[in-house]
Amino acid sequence: MELNKRQTEIFEIVKADGPITGEQIAERLKLARATIRPDLAILTMAGFLDARPRVGYFYSGKRPAQSVADSMTGMRVRDFQSIPVVVEENISVYDAICQMFLEDVGTLFVVDQSSFLTGVLSRKDLLRTSLGNNELEKIPVHVIMTRMPNITYCDKQDTLLHAAKKMIDQQIDSLPVVVDNGEGLEVVGRVTKTNITAAFLSLADDHEL
Ligand code: ADP
Repeated sequence: MELNKRQTEIFEIVKADGPITGEQIAERLKLARATIRPDLAILTMAGFLDARPRVGYFYSGKRPAQSVADSMTGMRVRDFQSIPVVVEENISVYDAICQMFLEDVGTLFVVDQSSFLTGVLSRKDLLRTSLGNNELEKIPVHVIMTRMPNITYCDKQDTLLHAAKKMIDQQIDSLPVVVDNGEGLEVVGRVTKTNITAAFLSLADDHEL
């Protein structure tokens, strides 16, 4: 497996100065911790680096020999997920449309007053309702959303491949990442086709682009 430029830089830093925390590596590269998280995930699962809680990253000393397929199997939702955008179920379709533009997302997750997942709103759900309807301020989103128990979701520990398969099988663009606390599903993240594309791209070597 070949590393891209940033992954090589990270590898060199850890080899020279490890153990070192992700935060410190990010600081050295003048990047945000979140930006290098996928690279660290790849370096770790490919066997270039090891990581220990409260210690940080260090050079494994092993010669990495892993196929792209193995790397893909090691990719987890938690390393590639985005921040979720949630709305309350009584907000109007009009406000949901504004929110979708403001937050620049294609899917909104709907929650009840206890902040538990109750529904999903896609672009086309909102478009469909908007066609020939002048009273969008008066329609609450819970009337038009796709609702529980018909929501497809995933866990942050799931593999990205598993999440991708769910999206393709269900023909949907995104999945809420949830934590089940016994009383309901708390939305902690969002996996979209864009995250899958980013993961796919991270497997490529710079030269091939
Ligand atoms: P669009 O409708 O804009 O093409 P999607 O393909 O994501 O976007 O959504 C298709 C339909 O599936 C919509 O009615 C939407 O409410 C629903 N949907 C989207 N995501 C999910 C999900 N994670 N679980 C269940 N239904 C979903």
